Amino acid sequence: MSAIEQLIAGYRRFRGGYYEANRERLVDLARYGQSPRIAVVACCDSRVDPAVITDSTPGELFVVRNVANLVPPCEGEGIWHGTSAALQFAVCGLEVEDLVVLGHARCGGIRSLLEGPGGDRAGDKFIADWMSVADEARKRVLDRADLPTLEEQAHACELAAIEISLANLETFPWIRERTEQARLHLHGWYYDMMSGDLLQLDASSGRFVSV
Ligand SMILES: [Zn+2]
Repeated sequence: MSAIEQLIAGYRRFRGGYYEANRERLVDLARYGQSPRIAVVACCDSRVDPAVITDSTPGELFVVRNVANLVPPCEGEGIWHGTSAALQFAVCGLEVEDLVVLGHARCGGIRSLLEGPGGDRAGDKFIADWMSVADEARKRVLDRADLPTLEEQAHACELAAIEISLANLETFPWIRERTEQARLHLHGWYYDMMSGDLLQLDASSGRFVSV
């Protein structure tokens, strides 16, 4: 069976199984619209599906996925701001109460940030330009003497990139206004698919701790 045939077979199982079993709720969502209370910024990585990790169902999570789960700073240059547009809709349109930046272990985007662009292929430019959002994380990690291996550097960089994305969220005036009024809460999470552990950034200690 080809990959696309597998996908269609999966859809048919969903249509006859989950969809039928939850038809009333799914039709209500279609009829009355979505009202998720949580937005998540996650990586495109196929191993890190926020709905699977949190056992969530359709309508519960508003999910933005991009390479390395980065949030760029609020800036007016350029016009194709997919992540910023999705965040604006989640925050101003849906008025979500919580916004989670969900990082993960063994992130290919973070690895490419540490290793530098992998050649002169045209596609690499897009990844390198995008990953420059997390340049500060790379600098912080390379300045540390206690991270001798690339694995340790990558892990530290994955965590630092989450902190930078959280700081960048506060550069959007409509986010800062809501966090100051405690109408919106920001969270940094980190999922390790090897151990299954989920960590969250503790605001008081500045450390990532198990949930
Ligand atoms: Zn990733």
